[in-house]
Amino acid sequence: MIPYGRQEITDSDIDEVEKVLKSDFLTQGPVVPKFEKVVANYCGASYAVAVNSATSALHIACLALGLEKGDYLWTSPNTFVASANCARYCGAGVDFVDINPDTFNINVEALSEKLKVAEKKGKLPKIIIPVHFAGQPSEMEAIHKLSKKFGFKIIEDASHAIGASYNEIKVGSCVHSDITVFSFHPVKIITTGEGGMALTNKKDLADKMYRLRVHGITYDKGTMHQRPKNEIWNYQQIELGFNYRMNDIQAALGLSQIKRLDHYITKRHNIAKRYNKEFESLSIKTQKQLPGFYSSFHLYSACFKENKNTEIQKKIYDTLRKNGIAVNVHYIPVHRHPYYENLGFKKEDFPEAEKFYRESISLPIYPSLSYQQQDFVLQSLASVLKNI
Ligand SMILES: *Cc1c(COP(=O)(O)O)cnc(C)c1O
Repeated sequence: MIPYGRQEITDSDIDEVEKVLKSDFLTQGPVVPKFEKVVANYCGASYAVAVNSATSALHIACLALGLEKGDYLWTSPNTFVASANCARYCGAGVDFVDINPDTFNINVEALSEKLKVAEKKGKLPKIIIPVHFAGQPSEMEAIHKLSKKFGFKIIEDASHAIGASYNEIKVGSCVHSDITVFSFHPVKIITTGEGGMALTNKKDLADKMYRLRVHGITYDKGTMHQRPKNEIWNYQQIELGFNYRMNDIQAALGLSQIKRLDHYITKRHNIAKRYNKEFESLSIKTQKQLPGFYSSFHLYSACFKENKNTEIQKKIYDTLRKNGIAVNVHYIPVHRHPYYENLGFKKEDFPEAEKFYRESISLPIYPSLSYQQQDFVLQSLASVLKNI
């Protein structure tokens, strides 16, 4: 079976993990801070907080920015549910902004219009989470400008996009956001098995996220509350946090993987180039790459125009799967999940995201996908299209 994405684990990855397994610390040792430093340096951010998933990172990012009951968080409907669930964990409301039909990312004009309406109603969002779909950055300069005008905070959900950049700005540098979140799930660009990270340039946000990762505990004398002189306090829980730690076994894998990050993205670009060429000649729509933007190509989506009679998407999906190619669809628009429908969202609330969901297929793209396997994917696809 050829999956739509998969990890690559090398012997040196295994050696690095083994070193930790034979060491004194499986968790809370020296490797997590080392991994944090390497990722922060790679991205050009001041602080990095490693956690056990991107979902956890999104949660503590929202808490650090003060999201609470009565607040609103807006994101793209074309994403994994975690980008919206983080608001619900904080008791806040969620709303969505439809996608741009060319980039499949949040539509900046629609966002601007929605903000104007929300301002009149006195219901502006506290946080907006642009999602860098498939690894292509959202239009951060424009979104950042809107944040200055309307006073919201920005968390970039860059779960797909470590290694990506726009106009020479690395995703994760937080030049146009408060916090950026990465995922290290095995299907993403680099992996720690499970894991995530939140990056920021703001010390107060970093301190808060470090604390929320460990139960709300501080070891910092200056942050601790005053106690009677004769009591020995070396730590205090000063707020309610979680056990969201990444362990040293995971961080060792991440440290070893990140050495190959740029190489991986080059390989992903080479596959995308081949697919692009094929689809251009067939006039099949794919994700528009904005000038000056460099995607990390976590996903490769191709759109097959809706046609009520033939159900092209389903036919391609079923036939390729029968041929051993596990294509997928990203994403079921978040508002169409029963949990969100129960909050009042309806079919056709965000028509572009729904159209994309009905038309797109995610084709296999990952560093170890061989040239022959790429041929097989393209040939299988061509033969389905011929028979439609
Ligand atoms: C994978 C993913 C997440 C969640 O990542 P985990 O590390 O599995 O928690 C969040 N947002 C997006 C867009 C994702 O693709």
